[in-house]
Amino acid sequence: MKQEALRLLSFLTASALLGWLTGHPGWAFAGGFLAYIVLHLRQLERLQAWLKGSHDADLPESTGVWGEIFDSIHALRRDEQRAKGSLLGIIERARASVAALKEAVVLIDDHGNLEWWNPAAEQLLGLQTVTDTGQPVTNLIRDPVFIRYFEQGPYEESLLLPSPIHPAQQLQFNLTRFGRNDRLMIVTDITRLHNLEQMRKDFVANVSHELRTPLTVLTGYLETLLGQADALEPRWLRALQQMDAQAARMNNLVNDLLLLSRLENDAREQEPRPVNVPALLAQLRSEALAFGLEKWQTVTLDCEEGLRLVGREDDLRSAFSNLVTNAVKYTQPTGSIRLRWWADAEHVYFSVQDNGIGIDAQHIPRLTERFYRTDVARSSATGGTGLGLAIVKHVLLDHRARLDIQSAPGKGSTFTCVFPAALAVR
Ligand code: ADP
Repeated sequence: MKQEALRLLSFLTASALLGWLTGHPGWAFAGGFLAYIVLHLRQLERLQAWLKGSHDADLPESTGVWGEIFDSIHALRRDEQRAKGSLLGIIERARASVAALKEAVVLIDDHGNLEWWNPAAEQLLGLQTVTDTGQPVTNLIRDPVFIRYFEQGPYEESLLLPSPIHPAQQLQFNLTRFGRNDRLMIVTDITRLHNLEQMRKDFVANVSHELRTPLTVLTGYLETLLGQADALEPRWLRALQQMDAQAARMNNLVNDLLLLSRLENDAREQEPRPVNVPALLAQLRSEALAFGLEKWQTVTLDCEEGLRLVGREDDLRSAFSNLVTNAVKYTQPTGSIRLRWWADAEHVYFSVQDNGIGIDAQHIPRLTERFYRTDVARSSATGGTGLGLAIVKHVLLDHRARLDIQSAPGKGSTFTCVFPAALAVR
């Protein structure tokens, strides 16, 4: 700036000198100013031409304040270009890594239209770059289950569906919202896992089914033999009684496994309909009293009369019965058990409360796993299969409900089934 002030001063001095020599100081000053302004206008013109031109054009040579301006703009441009280059590099690397993924990655805009996808999406979902860009995703994946999932959200759980182009292929859809209601959809091919899982389910179902006939024959003969107990030697009688008890246990196990298989495979005959839960619970209470006859426990029932639940009656009976039977099994003689059935604005509840042995907190998260028992000896002694709570969990899942477990060792437990209020009928 100092340099520029000096330049202006020299212009003015020269004009003053010229004015003094020619005797026209006014004109000489005006001429001097004009020349100074023209000089700046010329530099401005060069700057404009350079800015308009290509980024690689040579930097115009200049001195003084204009030289500094040209240098600063040049430095800014160079930094910007470097930043842009490195950003493009990052974008390119991200794009290449997403393109290399086996999972389909699909970007969907806030209107639900397809914006971008990787090559795996073309193979798994049949998307085609040219024709499908900008199309609603629900035009390309037309399964009503997908449409409902996509439109309703909230995408907390993934969705399993066959591929729209290869029905034998099983896909897992995961959606996440980002930005202004844009959505990122990741689709994984889980055919292998799905087939293995199906094989496991089929295997358990087949084995349980095949075990039924030999078991029926065995228990039939045992019954006949035990019917002639008087004719039996005492040691044979004891052996046969033990065989009978174990056969009964095995029968329970097979029945529970078959029930679990049916629940897992959605192979149920019954359609959901309003179930008279109060009547069902009255029955379960009588059964509990009969089952724990020698324990002299009190079993109370608090019911909201007339409160019915839309569901599968047989499955609900199995689930509730397992909870009630557990309370009887794991509560000491003369203990008390309380069954409750009620609703509030959001949920419908069935709870079984006992003042029995209780459960240590570390076991609670795993109780609904198959064959998980806190005390194997006690469970076997009470005729447990270790499958009861797994059945409860599956039945509740099927009714969009959850199981809440509160327990303290030595104090007792409360198992609560929490159903959505939408299933209540009054
Ligand atoms: P089981 O056939 O062994 O009873 P469940 O799946 O019904 O199998 O229960 C799993 C385990 O949870 C039981 O072995 C027991 O340890 C524990 N349990 C279930 N209900 C109760 C209860 N009311 N009080 C204490 N422990 C319980």
